[in-house]
Amino acid sequence: MARILVLGAGFAGLWAALGAARKRDEIGAPAAEVEILVVDRNAYHNIRVRNYEVDLSEVALPLAGLLDPVGVSHMVAEAEAIDPAKRQVTIKTGSGQKEVLGYDRLVLTTGSELVRPAIPGLAVHGFDVDTYAAAVRLDQHLAALGRQAPSTGRSTVVVVGAGFTGIEVAAEMPDKLARAGIDSGRRIILVDPNPVVGATFGAHGRPVIDQALSVLGVETRLNVRVAAVAAAGLTLSSGEIIPARTVVWCAGMRASPLAASLPAARDGLGRLAVDPYMRVEGLTGVFAAGDVASSLIDGQHATVMSCQFARPMGRFAGHNVVADLYGEPLLPLHIDWYVTVLDLGGWGALYTTGWDREVHTTGAAAKVTKQTINHQRIYPPRGGDRAALLAAAAPTIQAAPPTRP
Ligand SMILES: Cc1cc2nc3c(=O)[nH]c(=O)nc-3n(C[C@H](O)[C@H](O)[C@H](O)COP(=O)(O)OP(=O)(O)OC[C@H]3O[C@@H](n4cnc5c(N)ncnc54)[C@H](O)[C@@H]3O)c2cc1C
Repeated sequence: MARILVLGAGFAGLWAALGAARKRDEIGAPAAEVEILVVDRNAYHNIRVRNYEVDLSEVALPLAGLLDPVGVSHMVAEAEAIDPAKRQVTIKTGSGQKEVLGYDRLVLTTGSELVRPAIPGLAVHGFDVDTYAAAVRLDQHLAALGRQAPSTGRSTVVVVGAGFTGIEVAAEMPDKLARAGIDSGRRIILVDPNPVVGATFGAHGRPVIDQALSVLGVETRLNVRVAAVAAAGLTLSSGEIIPARTVVWCAGMRASPLAASLPAARDGLGRLAVDPYMRVEGLTGVFAAGDVASSLIDGQHATVMSCQFARPMGRFAGHNVVADLYGEPLLPLHIDWYVTVLDLGGWGALYTTGWDREVHTTGAAAKVTKQTINHQRIYPPRGGDRAALLAAAAPTIQAAPPTRP
């Protein structure tokens, strides 16, 4: 029996596994001939882009409900090392036991992780929304604060990093605090070393973001870094001390460290260069997709770490890994559109188009698009319908999100 090993069950990994199952089905190969095995440190697929939201009830979907119906095996374990020469991966299971898994083809989809610099106190006192577990921990902390009597810093949240994630966290925070019962004296402060909020949004989108944050009452501290974090607050490089019981770190992403265990070229974010078929350049039998990989998606621009690219990269990696195993032609992935839809909480959202991020729609209209994306477009079919799961994994390109439902 041949084995296709998929490491990671996020947006790229889930869709790679489903895409591989779909292609296996199309070829007519039985599961007993080609095993598709998914390894993830969690037993769920995290709709990671929703980890900043108030309602986390549907952002961790059990893998069993998505993979069992299509005959894909899955196990919970930490992938620790890859040996591409021997075609082996070392994993550690929940009981702490190490195992070596062989493979015929590997699909690396272990995503990215938040960069956590060695700032005094950050590891102990900082919160984040990088994973489902971290998002739940933040919500539990806010709920616990909500049950306490008002005190200095109880109602103040500092969000560090005014990029995509930090802006979404800050804009959603009024509603999160309200849900935690923290209404009076509320302060939300967005901190960034850049001179502007949303530096990568360019001149078009920034005024919209500034307006939304101002309406939401989000304060900013720009041109400063965090010097230290403590339980009662944080100290900025400017010398300012902000009493705050909640500090949410949102500054910077890096590719999964597993990418570095492969003898292949990586970019400044630690991502592996993949060709249009999602094959890791310079290695045989190894595919990669999602945040751990970088592809020239329109022949000109490198993919951005996003579910927008991770999902199609995953579908094509899954299709191609099976095609490769059976000596069939591979399909290149080429996407000629790029958009961003930034959630701005109770104010609405910002929808930009193109690599220059021209403003397309704002406010309530853009929010409709954001909610359609977050609640429908990026979800796999639920309910265990095998045919629906396989059909959704076809190696096709979706159109850009519509501006009206
Ligand atoms: C709060 C937030 C908001 C975001 N908003 C947007 C947005 O609006 N639009 C957008 O396009 N993108 C957004 N992103 C980015 C988006 O979530 C990522 O680009 C996307 O999740 C990448 O998919 P992936 O499959 O490559 O990685 P992931 O979704 O991170 O999946 C990686 C998987 O691998 C597993 N894993 C990792 N390492 C190991 C290991 N060693 N062993 C076993 N398992 C492992 C993880 O558990 C996880 O299941 C947001 C991210 C965050 C955190």
